[in-house]
Amino acid sequence: MVTGDATLHAPVMPRSFLNRAARRVPAPPRGAARALVASLLLGAAPVASPRFDHWIDGTAEEPATQVQRIDPDTFVIRQSVRTNFEAPFLYLLFGRDRALLIDTGAGGLRVRPTVERLIASWRRAHANRPVRLIVAHSHGHGDHHAGDAEFAGRPDTRLVGLAPAAVATFFGIHDWPEQVGRYDLGGRVLRIIPTPGHEPAHIMVYDPRTRLLFSGDMLYPGRLYVPHDQTAVFRASADRLARFARRHPVRALLGAHIEMTRAPGQDYAMRAPAHPDEHGLALPPSAIDDLDRAVTTAPSVEIDRHADFIVYPVAPRAP
Ligand SMILES: [Zn+2]
Ligand SMILES: [Zn+2]
Repeated sequence: MVTGDATLHAPVMPRSFLNRAARRVPAPPRGAARALVASLLLGAAPVASPRFDHWIDGTAEEPATQVQRIDPDTFVIRQSVRTNFEAPFLYLLFGRDRALLIDTGAGGLRVRPTVERLIASWRRAHANRPVRLIVAHSHGHGDHHAGDAEFAGRPDTRLVGLAPAAVATFFGIHDWPEQVGRYDLGGRVLRIIPTPGHEPAHIMVYDPRTRLLFSGDMLYPGRLYVPHDQTAVFRASADRLARFARRHPVRALLGAHIEMTRAPGQDYAMRAPAHPDEHGLALPPSAIDDLDRAVTTAPSVEIDRHADFIVYPVAPRAP
């Protein structure tokens, strides 16, 4: 999501709109079948989406962050909605030599102590091996880099810049946004997929080891904001993503927010202070084709509600 843009704080669509739009909700399983075929063709058995315990959701007293482990080298950090309504998800991935932190939160808390605790614990389990920390971002919106200053000056740490050129340079992408970059954490080579549209420096990170796709603000269970003047760019990114997913098995997408309930197509109010009955974090790989189809066929000026995401055109942001 985006902060600081009054145009985004429009009221949630009335229920009558929802009912009309609900006809669009049923999604054919074509994408899922295609993902399965891709998995089989690529010699990879399909793996179930990761299961998470209940996330902190603002409905009760809760800590500022919650960590859930996907595997010993892969962690999800959720920022409490009580510290900032964006309640983003951050990801920390360890390789043999480096750890990648994707995003530093929306502000309203200190996020570094949680990251330090995870790094210290990982190092204890690995004979105190040194690990360089790379702090990168899904994209340059303020709710994803508010904690950057906490990492400035940290030893053995690299903060990746926010502009597309800085992101492209760091990840060795010479032909932005067409080329998919590679970044090796040490025995764990990530793919970096440029996906501008929501924001010019947006990337997705694909991890072949877990077959997870960290999908940022472009595709998550919530309002996918697309500035009017970026429709074609967003569409091209959706298409690039769909092409990538045909060549790489994707187990699930893990995005940067949850803004929907478990009721298909139903989001929370803007700036909701709590998220009761929240949609799961993971989206199935079929969401990739669903989004590609949605932005190819739907008029680019209307809010387009689907069961698991909402394409949400907005006015361009002021420079
Ligand atoms: Zn954003
Ligand atoms: Zn966001």
